[in-house]
Amino acid sequence: MGLEHLRNIGIMAHIDAGKTTTTERILYYTGETHRIGEVDNGEATMDWMEQEQDRGITICSAATTCYWKDHQINIIDTPGHVDFTAEVERSLRVLDGAVAVFCAVGGVQPQSETVWRQANAYKVPRIAFINKMDRIGANFFRVIDEIETRFGVQLPLYIPVGAESDFSGIISIIDKSYLTFSKEDNGLSIEQCPIGEAPEMLRDQIAELYETWHEKFFDSLSACDDEIMELLLEEAEIPEELIHTAIARETLAGTLLPIFVGSSLKNIGVQPLIDGVVRYLPSPLAIAPAKGIMVKNEQEVEVIADPDANTLALVFKLQNDREKGFMAFTRVYSGSIQSGKAYLNVGKKKRERVSRIFRMHSNKPEQIDTLSAGDIGVLLGFKIAQTGDTIGQDNYQVLLESMDFPEPVISVSIEPKSLSEQDKLKKALDALSAEDPTFVTKENQETGQLVISGMGELHLDVLVTRILKEFRVEGRVGKPQVSYRESIEKNAKHTERFERVVGGKDNFAEITLEVSPAKRGEGNSYTTSLTDAELPREFRDAVSRGINNAFGAGIRLGYPVVDAHVELVSAVYDPQKATSFAFEAAAAMGFDAACAGASPILLEPIMDVVLETPPEYVGDVMSSITTRGGLIKTMETKDTVQEVIATIPLESMFGYTTVLRSMSQGRASFSMEFSHFAKKIERS
Ligand code: GDP
Ligand code: MG
Repeated sequence: MGLEHLRNIGIMAHIDAGKTTTTERILYYTGETHRIGEVDNGEATMDWMEQEQDRGITICSAATTCYWKDHQINIIDTPGHVDFTAEVERSLRVLDGAVAVFCAVGGVQPQSETVWRQANAYKVPRIAFINKMDRIGANFFRVIDEIETRFGVQLPLYIPVGAESDFSGIISIIDKSYLTFSKEDNGLSIEQCPIGEAPEMLRDQIAELYETWHEKFFDSLSACDDEIMELLLEEAEIPEELIHTAIARETLAGTLLPIFVGSSLKNIGVQPLIDGVVRYLPSPLAIAPAKGIMVKNEQEVEVIADPDANTLALVFKLQNDREKGFMAFTRVYSGSIQSGKAYLNVGKKKRERVSRIFRMHSNKPEQIDTLSAGDIGVLLGFKIAQTGDTIGQDNYQVLLESMDFPEPVISVSIEPKSLSEQDKLKKALDALSAEDPTFVTKENQETGQLVISGMGELHLDVLVTRILKEFRVEGRVGKPQVSYRESIEKNAKHTERFERVVGGKDNFAEITLEVSPAKRGEGNSYTTSLTDAELPREFRDAVSRGINNAFGAGIRLGYPVVDAHVELVSAVYDPQKATSFAFEAAAAMGFDAACAGASPILLEPIMDVVLETPPEYVGDVMSSITTRGGLIKTMETKDTVQEVIATIPLESMFGYTTVLRSMSQGRASFSMEFSHFAKKIERS
């Protein structure tokens, strides 16, 4: 199968919009599964993790392959909860296109906007599916208005006939026909009849809808295609291929959003959506080539999706499987990867052998020999590879753009019940942090307690449950705590002298450090202008190591230090007694001492919060924000609800779910996302 017949897609949606159900239907219609798995029975094939099934939400981005009309489609599952934005981002990295699922009742929700912005940032072409047309309150036309207002694009290709329990079928604008899906065989048989021959009871309604939306459709399309415009003016027949080509081109450019509609649960409208995936979403050949950096000269290179070129691949997800060990979900960008061969982990400068390769079919793996450019699969045999690592070859060392992961802002302590549990816990934490780069484990130096940090309450909750259930560690879990940062507000200079005899050998170092605050968000840095004559390189490196370790260990309270600049101003170098050990120790101690004199401060995470509330509770909701030290940024009426956007310190948000629920009788909701760190203000 040629590369032009391959699609790497994600399905993105606000939680509960029906992503899992829609994916399940796609796997069913493409013949991957022979029975429809229902989310509500906890048996959906994509939600294979035990925990996900408990929660009914999708957390991990597993990849699965299916085939449709001479095309291979790799579906990367993207999570819908903002606590897992890192998961969303890393899947967006390897996608060539996405299906955005919206609920016909809920419409565009705050988190769909977050994900939309991320998709824009990664330039992922999209088509949309308005799901749940059978639900009470479903309104297709309102949702496309919302999409138009929020995102500025829309192009309905299908129009629903009826809504709620009267939702009967869909009109295809391009085919000028009315489609119904058989209730007898889970929608496998589709009946398609010309508009003029639609069932009599609905014929007028269908004809009218068709007229209105057919005109809008060609208005939008002809505005971006001269050839179609001319044919329209001449009132000539427009070849179907021309229409598809124009839509695919504009979808790739992000100037039009093809919209599909249906009800996954009721098996209506899914096959046209799959047609849309292969027609309008790009193949790996159609998208802009990935970018990489040559290791030897730091020059940017384009990575062309050519199976015969040098091998370059990106590990975008690691999963620890009890039987198989580490499964590295990998996208090959160029060249190919063969089982049994060794490849270079470019960043870690080590070779690792690929023992086996799998293509995943909704959790039933198929072993293959080769994974070629453009394709996605699972590599086994890697031990050192981590999420975001580039896999390549010795004679062509290129690093693919690495991924940025947000800061963990919330933490919880775990105490093993016994010494034997301690080992199990450490193993569990090692395995989990290899899978998930956004989660950090640290040992509290004073209490010896293990503390894990993550992106939000739900993220931590998922991790903790996995530790206790999947890894069967018996332990006591503390309450979630805000994970602070430390920084400084002033400049300060300090000279540190280190002198110690260890095993009859002298260790001596003396250094002067100057610390100064950097701008918020700028990060830490370390510089020195000392020359080799003033302090040889191995000792300058030792100082740098000492400083970098000190950044992680805090100033007064042990929270990581951020936005501090350190300069090594001068050093006393005694060739007889100088050791790396002495310089590293002097640096660590000197850093703490210098910072202590530089007005150290505590920084707290501030969250972006989006609230939705019925108007009658808006007063209460706003005061609940201000009493929590929050700042209201905007307020907007959105149909029947008020949307309030605010920034609030994370510390004040613990337990807010319950507060908001009881304040609004369960009708208000919120979502939040890390925004930035700011100086902690004491609140009563
Ligand atoms: P996800 O969170 O986006 O993966 O959404 P799910 O697929 O898990 O669906 C969430 C809930 O909506 C489940 O109870 C589904 O049965 C239900 N659901 C999904 N699709 C439809 C639909 O087309 N119509 C109706 N009425 N319910 C649906
Ligand atoms: Mg789901």
